[in-house]
Amino acid sequence: MSGWRSVVDQLAALDPAEWDAADLGDAELLTAVVDVQAAVNRLSALQTRLVRAADVRQAHRNDGMVSMRSWLTGHCRVSGREAVALVRAGRRLAELPEVEAAFTAGEMTSAHVGVIASAVTPARVAAAAGHGIDVAETDRVLATAARELGPEDTAKAVRRWVAGVDPDGQLADAADVDRRFSLAVSLTGRVYLSGHLDPVGAETVHTALESLAGADRPAGDLRSHAERQGEALVELCRRALVAGELPEVRGERPQVRVTIDWQSLSAARTAAGAAPAELPFAGPVTPETARRLACDASVVRMITGPHGLPMDVGRAQRTASAGVRRAVELRDDGCVFAGCTAPAAWCDVHHVVHWAHGGPTSCENGALLCERHHTAVHEGGFAVRRDPGTAVWHTVRPDGSEIVPRGPCRSG
Ligand SMILES: [Zn+2]
Ligand SMILES: [Zn+2]
Repeated sequence: MSGWRSVVDQLAALDPAEWDAADLGDAELLTAVVDVQAAVNRLSALQTRLVRAADVRQAHRNDGMVSMRSWLTGHCRVSGREAVALVRAGRRLAELPEVEAAFTAGEMTSAHVGVIASAVTPARVAAAAGHGIDVAETDRVLATAARELGPEDTAKAVRRWVAGVDPDGQLADAADVDRRFSLAVSLTGRVYLSGHLDPVGAETVHTALESLAGADRPAGDLRSHAERQGEALVELCRRALVAGELPEVRGERPQVRVTIDWQSLSAARTAAGAAPAELPFAGPVTPETARRLACDASVVRMITGPHGLPMDVGRAQRTASAGVRRAVELRDDGCVFAGCTAPAAWCDVHHVVHWAHGGPTSCENGALLCERHHTAVHEGGFAVRRDPGTAVWHTVRPDGSEIVPRGPCRSG
């Protein structure tokens, strides 16, 4: 099990860019591409069988992992989706020897195998047996299809087989969950949502989102339906986190966490070359965004000093700051940004003087800002200030001029 590594090393050292047509003609070059694809298929088949062996032996427990899936994501750094596909292929192909033989011979790709493995579930194999189609027949038909067709057309053949054994699509099947949802962080930092729901689940989600998307919609709100739904989704989750009713994770109340270094946090504006701040799931954010997040008492901040070593883990003090929040809500009533009518429940308690600069979490130093205007203050260069001893707020543009609210002044 080690000799092949030196072969792979030799192959990896080849540099096709150095070859000209005299070294290797076009036809040979293309043949090499085909040969490598077959080799990739054979190695993928080997990996599938290795994963199966490890899965059967529960070898992952040796590394303290509860499943082969989590071992694969942790130790091979494959995506969760790929890990699920590998484990599933290992299990299903044990029942489909002809498909496995074709895969091992390099005659089909892991995409073909993925299509077959996700459809040929134990429940469907049992249903097929009830229709007089034994698993050997299924194995033969699908292996033949996958040898001759691309993955897309193989998927059609697989769907025909599924329609034959499960005409109503009613099979209860763990691999075919009705509700799916995933978040994928792209290289640009945008996070893409995908998934699908059954009618009842969708109705539940829709009802909750509509309530938030439609509530307190100020006149002149020009956001599209999709934009309002997107904000409603985030707001729904934010409220669930703030309410503290979600299950604990590893013994702690779930909270948004941000890691930022002390220098970036305490700077008034971001210096060139400042280290980006980091969210554990979504990845890097700008120091301005991190300062806004760290301003909100319900966010846990991890502050690092030189060399990225943690200096302080600020615990969100929900109970301690609840009194402050109530006092600020009583005074400000809603977002204090000029012209905004967002209600108090939508607002963060902004520190007018950031706590990193010694600003206390107090009613005196607090200001209610909706998420949009909290962003405008931290990331957009706007500022809010209050006439001492009053509830009269002023909003100042980045150029220092004041925004004069149109319409009645609520707090005045
Ligand atoms: Zn703030
Ligand atoms: Zn606002």
